[in-house]
Amino acid sequence: MKGYVIPPEVLAKMVKARIGGKRSDATKLKMSESIRKTLSSPEVKQKMINAQMGNKKWLGKKHKSETILKMSEAQRGDKGSRWDGGKSLLHHIIRESSKYSIWRNGVFVRDNYVCKGCGAKGVYLQAHHIKSLAIILKENDITTFEQAIPCSEIWDNDNGVSLCIPCHKKTDTYGVKKFYQKISSPQDKEFDKFAPVG
Ligand SMILES: [Zn+2]
Repeated sequence: MKGYVIPPEVLAKMVKARIGGKRSDATKLKMSESIRKTLSSPEVKQKMINAQMGNKKWLGKKHKSETILKMSEAQRGDKGSRWDGGKSLLHHIIRESSKYSIWRNGVFVRDNYVCKGCGAKGVYLQAHHIKSLAIILKENDITTFEQAIPCSEIWDNDNGVSLCIPCHKKTDTYGVKKFYQKISSPQDKEFDKFAPVG
């Protein structure tokens, strides 16, 4: 989900499988594709968020107002609460959007499909937001995909860097700032622009 690059040989196999498929298979493929397309459209996904939010409201109606107050207070203190206000769904919508794949590809092309953490070539790469998507969304008060579209910070190639999976994992484990300090070197001035702000 986090932006794997499909190796050309795998892609070729996929294309070949589609061309070589029997008519019935091709029809099935077409159908499932149209379903997938419908489900991946931002409008439909937004509807899903709204539906989920509506659902939550409905659940709340089962409780007396006093209980609701207690629940919301309890929830505020409960960081492990499963409901995140649709944030992870919005992240998913953004990452699955065509706008995001354009951003991702732009980052990969600029980085020559090389991991900027370890220099590995020909490996699965992920485009990493240097200033995290979560922070950008929070700072700009973005809660819907429609609001995310005009937010240039999300789609700025300069805020992205190509990383292989092990290097990407390090950003999660050790924290982005530490990681970028580690990989920034005087020999690699290019990296200065990837240094996190603040
Ligand atoms: Zn790497």
